[in-house]
Amino acid sequence: MWYGETHYFKIKRDTLDYLAISSMGGFDPKVMVYDDFYTLVDRNDDVDPNSRGAIYTSGKNFYCQFYADRDRYYYFGVKPALSGATGTTTIRCVIDNFHVSDYSKLVSGINAVKNGRIYYKDYTNLSYYISIGAAQWNKLGQVQIRHRGAGDRTDLTLNLFYDKDSIVAYTSKHWLKGWSIWYNDYYFQDMVMSERLKTVMHEFGHTLGMAEFSGWDYCESYDNVMVQGIRSISKLGPADIAVYRKLWG
Ligand SMILES: [Zn+2]
Repeated sequence: MWYGETHYFKIKRDTLDYLAISSMGGFDPKVMVYDDFYTLVDRNDDVDPNSRGAIYTSGKNFYCQFYADRDRYYYFGVKPALSGATGTTTIRCVIDNFHVSDYSKLVSGINAVKNGRIYYKDYTNLSYYISIGAAQWNKLGQVQIRHRGAGDRTDLTLNLFYDKDSIVAYTSKHWLKGWSIWYNDYYFQDMVMSERLKTVMHEFGHTLGMAEFSGWDYCESYDNVMVQGIRSISKLGPADIAVYRKLWG
């Protein structure tokens, strides 16, 4: 049940980040966040004390954390529980890219980047996913992963293989042949679009210098493409972005 007037706020940013919106004050407010297609992105009422929201606020206040694509509007509808409520509630929106594991575990120490570029040569039939996957990382702005044009060097080759006894994909750096990514068609044939895209983004993440985001004693949230496994994800997660920013600015 909703009471009182809804107040709307909007925000648009020119960098891609996770944003956290929270309230502090009275009214027991609730929040709904919409994108510019009026699709509900997230909503929250009271703050779970065990959630990340506890670092921002508490109790009857709200907390939402969401992926905010660059150059798009997001609308927050904030509604107090009490009609005719008076006084003040502070609404705060901050950049909130974060990881919970030690940074040293999330980076590999090597990458395929030269002068802010990775030029790849594509021997697969996955160019649709590869171009979208590269574009998701490229939105972060510091490194551009691009299809090799005439006269460009080749930093990375993209390849298909078929092996029912192997893993879904892997990235390797050969001492002579350089960087390559291998996608296993045994799995790709049966994967849905967002699973293919997630895997493409994951392997590109390795060429950007990221390690696996899970191990025997640590794990980032499953929103992150750098956490291993076949999952449906079409955008980067908060730790993907946080580690990229620490590596590349
Ligand atoms: Zn991996």
